[in-house]
Amino acid sequence: MTSADEWPDFPEGLDPRSVSFREARCTWHGKTCTEPPLKVVRTRDGARWAACARAVRTIAAARGA
Ligand SMILES: [Zn+2]
Repeated sequence: MTSADEWPDFPEGLDPRSVSFREARCTWHGKTCTEPPLKVVRTRDGARWAACARAVRTIAAARGA
């Protein structure tokens, strides 16, 4: 069990057919990221991120998971 497993799948409460879902992108890496967000991740400072697979690994590692 890693902390990545505790995070809800993206989109959290978003309709897959909605515009906001289609336009969703990884907010951890920003516009340079081409991967779709997979998880909704909350960091220790309370910020919420739409994280791609790479971001999930990065954030999990930073948390010591
Ligand atoms: Zn990313």
